[in-house]
Amino acid sequence: MTDLLKVPSGAEQDMKTANTTYSESLQQELLQFLQNCPSAFHTAHTIRRVLLDAGYEELFEAFPWHLEAGGRYFVMRAESSIISFRIPHDRPSGFMIAASHTDSPTMKIKVNPEMEGNGYILLNVEGYGGLIMQSWFDRPLSVAGRVVIRTADGLSSRLVNVDRDLLMIPRLAIHMDRTQNDGQKIDMQKDMLPIIGLSSSKGSFMEVIAEETGCKPEDILGHDLFLYVRGRGTVWGAHGEFISGGHLDDLQCGFADLKGYLASAEADSIPILAVFDNEEVGSRSRQGADSGFLTDILHRVADALACNDEKFRLLTAGSFMVSADNAHAVHPNYPEAADPVNRPAINKGPVIKYNAAQRYTTDALSAAVFKEVCRRAGVPFQEFTNRSGSRGGSTLGHQSMTHFSIPTADVGLPQLSMHSAYETAGTADTAYMIEAMKVFFSSSLRNEGHDHYRLITNL
Ligand code: ZN
Repeated sequence: MTDLLKVPSGAEQDMKTANTTYSESLQQELLQFLQNCPSAFHTAHTIRRVLLDAGYEELFEAFPWHLEAGGRYFVMRAESSIISFRIPHDRPSGFMIAASHTDSPTMKIKVNPEMEGNGYILLNVEGYGGLIMQSWFDRPLSVAGRVVIRTADGLSSRLVNVDRDLLMIPRLAIHMDRTQNDGQKIDMQKDMLPIIGLSSSKGSFMEVIAEETGCKPEDILGHDLFLYVRGRGTVWGAHGEFISGGHLDDLQCGFADLKGYLASAEADSIPILAVFDNEEVGSRSRQGADSGFLTDILHRVADALACNDEKFRLLTAGSFMVSADNAHAVHPNYPEAADPVNRPAINKGPVIKYNAAQRYTTDALSAAVFKEVCRRAGVPFQEFTNRSGSRGGSTLGHQSMTHFSIPTADVGLPQLSMHSAYETAGTADTAYMIEAMKVFFSSSLRNEGHDHYRLITNL
């Protein structure tokens, strides 16, 4: 149903910021998207429902495919990654791929999670990704993800979101430890266990999950459940410059890629929207960017187009990837953490990321292609390098490259507090990225040898 991205009524007027304009309705749409995506499973399923509503047909890896010219399709893997594509009417010259990720740093509920002590019931958790643990204290939390249950005729995966304030990780009072503001080491196994209730609530966690799922606790045979921060995100600042909420990395890019993809026109290429799980833990899973998911799908598409092996190699040679994952804006309190020159600003457009060690895949060619995409879209771009000596992060392009080796640009939207439970980004940047991705997905790239390319945009 489209109302997953539906705009609340009365939010239609545009607001002016100091530098640019942005649509209030677009901000509300992104906030609703964040709200609908408390876990990677919910992100993939939210995108699934948007695609179904837009007339896309769902395919399954376990069944044969019958693809048609002009057809629009998508496939999920492990309920938490999703790839969509369209088949052009004319013979395509390559794949135009945009990748982003469904997951965010959080804590995963361990198996047999309840722990009792001192009159409380706690949940045993372990870290998922590089989270800023400080940001999880003293705020209402809940649990979302999926369970696999026994049904009358088999085993079935079900989404779960306990949509109420369920958990809290209270800090120790300052009176009981005066060193708390002096930079403390946080022990995940000791300091980060959320409280679910008093001793009288023993056994209630799986009961709550079963009730949400509509089954009996004993029918739950497995769970992939994660903590998330409760409360809706918000737009703030003197001129509404900022948007804050959980999971902006990487749902801001995932949202912008999806909007640009749906708004794009047919070109002489196959547009591919890929949103992968497990980026925050290195992408090495059955459904991550470092799996065969993307190449499996590309091969099946090529098979359906009756491409032999050489024709598939020709398609590969005319392909391009945008790896879209949020980037670091310069922080006003810590400008020394940024590169002296290449320090992105909020609301100044998508960021192209470079790293000599190739942890970001951008090179001269892929940067040039993305800059040309931005120019055609009429949006500004910025550039980022790590401060030398700082290792920085890595992302999807780096992982995907080992499976499907094509020119790739690592880009993202500038944000603050990356990997906090509550992150901050710019309100204008989402719209810039949507416009850039609309042009990207409406384009094809002709590889004419010796890294000479022609970018053809059908808009
Ligand atoms: Zn990310």
